[in-house]
Amino acid sequence: MAWKTIDDMGMAGKTALVRVDINVPMEAGVVTDATRIEKIKPTVEDLIARGAKVVLLAHFDRPKGKVVPEMSLGHVKAALEAALGRKVVFGSDCIGAPAKAAIAAAHQGDVVLLENTRFHPGEEKNDPALAAELAALGDVFVNDAFSAAHRAHASTEGLAKLLPSAAGRLMEAELKALEAALGTPVRPVVAVVGGAKVSTKLDLLGNLVTKVDHLVIGGGMANTFLVAQGIEVGKSLAERDMAPTALEIIGKAKAAGCTIHLPVDVVVAREFKAGAANETVAATACPADAMILDAGPKTVAELTKVFGACKTLIWNGPLGAFEIEPFNAATNAAAKVAADLTKAGALVSVAGGGDTVAALNQAGAAADFTFISTAGGAFLEWMEGKVLPGVAALG
Ligand code: ADP
Ligand code: MG
Repeated sequence: MAWKTIDDMGMAGKTALVRVDINVPMEAGVVTDATRIEKIKPTVEDLIARGAKVVLLAHFDRPKGKVVPEMSLGHVKAALEAALGRKVVFGSDCIGAPAKAAIAAAHQGDVVLLENTRFHPGEEKNDPALAAELAALGDVFVNDAFSAAHRAHASTEGLAKLLPSAAGRLMEAELKALEAALGTPVRPVVAVVGGAKVSTKLDLLGNLVTKVDHLVIGGGMANTFLVAQGIEVGKSLAERDMAPTALEIIGKAKAAGCTIHLPVDVVVAREFKAGAANETVAATACPADAMILDAGPKTVAELTKVFGACKTLIWNGPLGAFEIEPFNAATNAAAKVAADLTKAGALVSVAGGGDTVAALNQAGAAADFTFISTAGGAFLEWMEGKVLPGVAALG
């Protein structure tokens, strides 16, 4: 992949505009989880050590092109200072005189934080005029916001076209992990795709069957595949109108030499609630008045074999309704198998997706995975095989 890193560019004496994702959760003006801020530290420290003046560009929430005081990045300044252990100089606009004054006031070793880029309507429109005003503030551009890379915005794609540009350390780590999982992976590769619906993951399934050796389909979307094969699933979540699409995916997989694994046994219940009375039945034997809420132990045993035979695993989507006990059992068990194989050095494991990250954390498996992407939409679009404009512009 053709993108530059900080190592490829001279930084001494330069003003580096650094696009970061510090869109942190906040309650009553206080940051409740500083994980995203912690993650930009390696890039900020590296740039300062190389003699650059660091100017952070970021969006916060969705002000939709207007100044919304509650969505000011000024609220994040204190948390940023605490996490970085450095003085942060805040600029009340990301362009023009306030931005220039903040940059001029900062000493080498301080960090400049400029106001929410999305206060300007040109940000999300990728307006060249806004990109030019941003570019006028610095000498080089470092993009460390992989999670915003699937959108071509002025502070991501537009700016990268105007200044010498490179990926920050966080972006670099994410791109390398993803490249190792799907770009040039060690084979065989298994992909696990679960979650609620086939319709939200069509592009994903279509791309994966051409790239991986084994595709495990779980969660609600597996029900649609069962229905497509003439198997009744009672009251389960299933998109019956997607049956032809499911058959197409099965056909595409066969042609590409990808083996699809569907649940062989399932856990069914009559109610969608924690602790609901449940039973385990063959995947072909869901009672008419019940719904499938998880995969069963035979399915987990089969997945254990597949994981054990593979060298690379990529995972998006839980295998069952993991938010309610005990329907998190298959997801937890499979996650544990993947984590143990990874710990033993037998598997490269990469996972992403909002609910997937939550499920792997709940399973206590996340820390042992090779890489967990918190990038949400950007991770999914990358898994779908799409070009991410924010990354492409770093070439
Ligand atoms: P991600 O956010 O990681 O991309 P999804 O949003 O696609 O994952 O899927 C997660 C959702 O799928 C969860 O809310 C989970 O309860 C739901 N789900 C999984 N299996 C089932 C099932 N058998 N029946 C109903 N919902 C399910
Ligand atoms: Mg989700």
